[in-house]
Amino acid sequence: MKREKTDIFISGGGPAGLSAAAAFGRAGFSVILADPSPPVTEGDAEGSDLRSTAFLQPARRLFEDAGLWEGLAPFGVALQALRIVDTAGEPPALRGERAFRSDDMGTAPFGWNFLNWVFRREVMKRLEQEPNVSLRLGRGFRALVTRTDEALVTLDDGTRLSARLVIAADGRNSPVRDALGIGVRVTRHGQKSLAFTAAHQVAHGNVSTEIYHHGGPFTMVPLPDVDGQPASAVVWMNPGRRAAELLAMEPARFNAEMERRSAGLFGRMKLVSRRAMFPIVSQRASRLVAARCAIVAEAAHVLPPIGAQGLNTSLNDIARLLELARANPDGLGSAAMLAAFERARGPDIARRARAIDLFNRVTRSPSRPLQDMRLIGLKMAHDIVPLRQALMRAGMGPR
Ligand SMILES: Cc1cc2nc3c(=O)[nH]c(=O)nc-3n(C[C@H](O)[C@H](O)[C@H](O)COP(=O)(O)OP(=O)(O)OC[C@H]3O[C@@H](n4cnc5c(N)ncnc54)[C@H](O)[C@@H]3O)c2cc1C
Repeated sequence: MKREKTDIFISGGGPAGLSAAAAFGRAGFSVILADPSPPVTEGDAEGSDLRSTAFLQPARRLFEDAGLWEGLAPFGVALQALRIVDTAGEPPALRGERAFRSDDMGTAPFGWNFLNWVFRREVMKRLEQEPNVSLRLGRGFRALVTRTDEALVTLDDGTRLSARLVIAADGRNSPVRDALGIGVRVTRHGQKSLAFTAAHQVAHGNVSTEIYHHGGPFTMVPLPDVDGQPASAVVWMNPGRRAAELLAMEPARFNAEMERRSAGLFGRMKLVSRRAMFPIVSQRASRLVAARCAIVAEAAHVLPPIGAQGLNTSLNDIARLLELARANPDGLGSAAMLAAFERARGPDIARRARAIDLFNRVTRSPSRPLQDMRLIGLKMAHDIVPLRQALMRAGMGPR
């Protein structure tokens, strides 16, 4: 079989791989993307991802560059503030709260929340019109051989490709990363997160709320109304056994547990979607590059779902790779380009992973002195203005 030539081969059509395909295609590079599981683009369909993603301001720049923003914008709910609430005791009682407002930084809003299946639908619409991108859905990466000037890729249907750059965006169990012999360090936190949609009596006012208590945060990110009622995407972190108990709980009792856990701040709450459960792990690849290959997104780093850092960190990988490719298109996939990518992204990923890990350990602790420290920390982080602004800037990602 003849070998097809392409500038870039992307393994993986999750949100990161799809975004990369749109961005590089728009920039004029030829792209082939393969994924054995075609993206599910309807909310009611089997396997639909009902979670949401809060995309921060820097993501918008990449989406504009990729020609995605126009299609996405009507479906995003703007996030004007982040409200952090500290609770302790049983039932959880409010001890203090602070709101971090985006206009404090002169960048209103912080970002936009999108349902994941809506995001996939809109990106797929754009990709279907992009002449530089060829989608091979239902087909996966199988093998790879790298040479100085190209990577030779084989797909699981026998298709043979030659690419100047391979982008591994094939998730936490990345087959490309494995084929390259790049190891990963995994930390399990003994926690699981439940993700679902809840309707509630009290309006969210475009404010994202994180309610801290031992076990992990209860995070509510604004969504459009559901059946005329305010609604939010909820991510509720708990020790594994408690999460399994909540997953199996009948809805009326689950609703009562949500109200209790949110200290009644949103009035009556009602589950209005399926519940999905995710293990909380931190994972980091030992290297981000190999000859002709860049490892990005969850193939490179998995972070606990705190502070909307996961996919936003992944988009920063893609934005950086794109910037390097555009600066020197002839050097696409060269050793110099890949070394620059590793230098630019490695330290930022490591810092973010360490900070989230530490934050998770401190905030989930049942120890009363640590809980008291958590409350003091929250007040200091907000009330000391330069510290507040520095933390908000750091949370948005590298400039
Ligand atoms: C509860 C929860 C809430 C979250 N909320 C946020 C948030 O608000 N903001 C944020 O920034 N992040 C958030 N995240 C993180 C975010 O969801 C993930 O970073 C993101 O979904 C991972 O996308 P990805 O494209 O890297 O990987 P994946 O979505 O895992 O995609 C990998 C793709 O690779 C494909 N693949 C597998 N094998 C092959 C093969 N052989 N060949 C080709 N392709 C292959 C798979 O089919 C899959 O489609 C959250 C995570 C969780 C668990």
